[in-house]
Amino acid sequence: MTNTATTEEGKKANSSTHECGCHCGYIKFSVTLSPPLSEYEVVNCNCSACTRFGYLLIYPEAADVKWHNDSRSRCASYQFNTKAKDQLFCPKCGASLAIDFRDVFKPHKYGISARTIYGVNLDELKLKKLDGISLVKPAGDLAGHYWDEEKGQLK
Ligand SMILES: [Zn+2]
Repeated sequence: MTNTATTEEGKKANSSTHECGCHCGYIKFSVTLSPPLSEYEVVNCNCSACTRFGYLLIYPEAADVKWHNDSRSRCASYQFNTKAKDQLFCPKCGASLAIDFRDVFKPHKYGISARTIYGVNLDELKLKKLDGISLVKPAGDLAGHYWDEEKGQLK
C-alpha cells in the first residue's frame, strides 16, 4: 500500500493505492482510493447478493482501477434482477471480486470487495452498514430466485 499526501495529480492527493486480486492469482488489479482506505467508509450491505458474495465494498471510478494482464476480460460474471451490472468472479478459483456498475453510475464506477486487497486487515476497516435488502429497489431477497423476463416477476 502506498499513501500519498501530495502527488503530481491534485486529484490523487489524500489517496491510497492497493494491489488486489483473487486467491489463485489469475485476476490481478490495482485500485486507487480517495479518501485512503484507512479513512474510507467500507459498505457492509445486507442484500442477497452482498450476503452470498461476501462483499465489503469500496467504490473507485473505473479510471482508478488498473486491471493487470487483461484481468477484466478474464473475469467470470453473473447478472441478476435488472441485469444492469456484472458481479465479477475468478473463473479458476471462484473468488468473489467486484461489481461492474458500467450501466448504473456515470462516470463508470466499480464496487470492489475490500477482501480482494492483498494484505488487508479486515479488523482495521471502517465498516458502514447499508440496509440494501430494504432500500435498493426492486430487489428484496432474491437468493434462490430468478427474474422471469417475459412475465416481469420473480420465480
Ligand atoms: Zn483465482
